[in-house]
Amino acid sequence: MPSACSIRVRGVVQGVGFRPFVYRLARANTLAGWVLNGEEGVEIFLEGAEKGLLAFVQDLKTQPPPASSITEIEVHSAAPLGLNEFTIRESHRRERPTVRISPDLPICDACVNELFAPGDRRYWYPYINCTNCGPRYTVVLGLPYDRANTTMQHWPLDDYCAAEYRDPGNRRFHAQPVACPACGPAYYLHQSEEEIRGSEQSIRKAALLLTSGSILAVKGLGGYHLACDASNPAAVTALRERKYRKEKPFAIMARDLEVARQLVELSPEAEALLLSVARPIVLAPAKAGSSQVDPEVAPENNELGVMLPYTPLHHLLFAAGAPEVLVMTSANRSSEPIAYEDDEALDRLSGIADAFLIGERPIARRVDDSVARDGVFGPVILRRARGYAPGAVARLPNIRPILAVGADLKNTITLVVDGQAFMSQHIGDLGHYQSLRAFKETIQDLISMYEVRPEELLVAYDSHPQYASSSHALALGIPQRLAVQHHRSHIASVLAERGEWEKRIVGVSFDGTGYGDDGSIWGGEIFVGSIKDGFDRVGHLRSASLPGGDAAAQYPVQAAAGFLVQVEDLPDLTAPPFTFPQRYRQAVDLVEKNVRTFPTTSIGRLFDSAAALLGFTREVTFEGQAAMWLEQLACSAKATEAYPFPYSEHELDFRPLLQAVVCDRLRGRSVAEIARGFQRGLAQGLHDAVVSFCDVHRLDVVVLSGGVFQNELLLKDLKSLFEAGSREVWTNHAVPPNDGGISLGQAALAAFARFD
Ligand code: ZN
Ligand code: FE
Repeated sequence: MPSACSIRVRGVVQGVGFRPFVYRLARANTLAGWVLNGEEGVEIFLEGAEKGLLAFVQDLKTQPPPASSITEIEVHSAAPLGLNEFTIRESHRRERPTVRISPDLPICDACVNELFAPGDRRYWYPYINCTNCGPRYTVVLGLPYDRANTTMQHWPLDDYCAAEYRDPGNRRFHAQPVACPACGPAYYLHQSEEEIRGSEQSIRKAALLLTSGSILAVKGLGGYHLACDASNPAAVTALRERKYRKEKPFAIMARDLEVARQLVELSPEAEALLLSVARPIVLAPAKAGSSQVDPEVAPENNELGVMLPYTPLHHLLFAAGAPEVLVMTSANRSSEPIAYEDDEALDRLSGIADAFLIGERPIARRVDDSVARDGVFGPVILRRARGYAPGAVARLPNIRPILAVGADLKNTITLVVDGQAFMSQHIGDLGHYQSLRAFKETIQDLISMYEVRPEELLVAYDSHPQYASSSHALALGIPQRLAVQHHRSHIASVLAERGEWEKRIVGVSFDGTGYGDDGSIWGGEIFVGSIKDGFDRVGHLRSASLPGGDAAAQYPVQAAAGFLVQVEDLPDLTAPPFTFPQRYRQAVDLVEKNVRTFPTTSIGRLFDSAAALLGFTREVTFEGQAAMWLEQLACSAKATEAYPFPYSEHELDFRPLLQAVVCDRLRGRSVAEIARGFQRGLAQGLHDAVVSFCDVHRLDVVVLSGGVFQNELLLKDLKSLFEAGSREVWTNHAVPPNDGGISLGQAALAAFARFD
């Protein structure tokens, strides 16, 4: 007696090989029926023996496709229809935008097994993939997502691949990038005048070159990497010199989880991040005394950024005997965007790379590796790119399409369609021509992929009048537009992630720089309000002068000149122990004459000032470097008292804080302890101010966002302070707390903006 049931599965179940999986499972249990992509997930109808139905549901729960994530399975019994086969039905309705473009997926276990199975058709084939794994966003040229609209369009399927592609029972059913060595692209190695053809030969040669200390440009999923042996000091130093990258840490790739565990301290949450389908670079505390990572990989840094292999090519390189820890850094010079086109890579990277391992499959768009960390408040994404983009980050309760163009540094774009906010990959610093081009292309890409008509759009942009992103937003000629203040966007990004539109909170937005309502440089702001009603600025850091404006971010002593002018009884800072360089005097001069000097409330510059007093008197070579340096210093100190950072008259007063730093430094106290006292003072002062706002406004939630909240020690101090009270603290998880999260906040505020 056959029975039947209908099943609805919700979660990430579309575009991840779910239907072929269901098909195979049904056939394995001799069930008839159908599966289709519905409005709200995957819909299944099954009929057959009771035992088969039970086994099906059991396997559905326990062995879903690796890239899927099921949030809910609903099973209802139904009347048998007398079907005698199982089919994959085409969806009648238009597919939801969410399923159109999936983020790139790491190679799955089944494909890894085939990759290393002698006799398999795709043995040692670096482009092996299936419906459970492989490239998506980085190969899509247009929609609908089928072969002709991907960068695989020039490789027609041979009979073998075509048969798999057409077989609903096969793992490669409708796998658009499917290929094999007979019909697909290959890798080759390019070394000065020589070229080695054949994937296996070129990969083996590349592994050999890496072992002998060479620097290789390796074409990956979303761009080129520069790779070298992480344990080889000569190779790492050469890479720094050739890349003009003095100090910014390099990411590394460990052969497997075991090797990663030898390099860094991994919490269970950090391991989960490392193994998650996005395979991000995970920042974690370095283990002392590892000989596999040269100190120059991350100089003066207690953390390492580690990732695991995610493409077949990575697995093959390690299998071919490449060193088990590789530096894998974006292939570019200094802070330029990552190279992703072959000619461009050969051109820009000649002189950096000794050889090029090049794959023939073109990359549709530049997508960097993502960066994440298991933070004090849980996992947080610091750079949202490969594996995440262009996925949805939030739902908005409105149907109007919105384009939010983000900020100029760490730029991302958010497009809201059908109430879902999709965030682009990290695009970077729009000051670079290449990034600006990518920014414009990404806007066009997203608008066309999600079939939005520009005339129905509302465009949101930063209120900074000199931002390139803002000018471009205005140049789009979209009549409905809205300027959104930078620090309010930071706060809104946290609330948007959580779907909290009406919740009134106290929001703290601490970062390096953003354009304030009064035209000054903000960065130490406290707000009260909600996304729906907007945020009122209720407090801020005491205003200081910033000689040279935003350019002062390069030189901590320049910021120090602007802040310390307000500190009484200041000693001569050009003398020991401070020994500030000449630039400081020039900056003081500007402040005194009030030339090219701008008011600021930036916490980032306050950190720079303190770092300068503690010995960081040189130029910074990457954004946030001096603050990171100070945090690391503070981490090495034992517990100390908090320096005073009092709040009154709407102002957090930095004068006693810096005064204490100067005094203790003159007294000869260790710089680590002073750094610790500074950080604790900051946390204590902020906590006390926030608590008083919570009391006055009767609020119980505190939101923290902005680049300064990448400082884990600050979060740790704040967490223990707030835990003692009854206030909840909310921080970013899905989007970065730095300017990479701005576009989501802009979109959320725009969604609720009133237009009169
Ligand atoms: Zn696979
Ligand atoms: Fe910011």
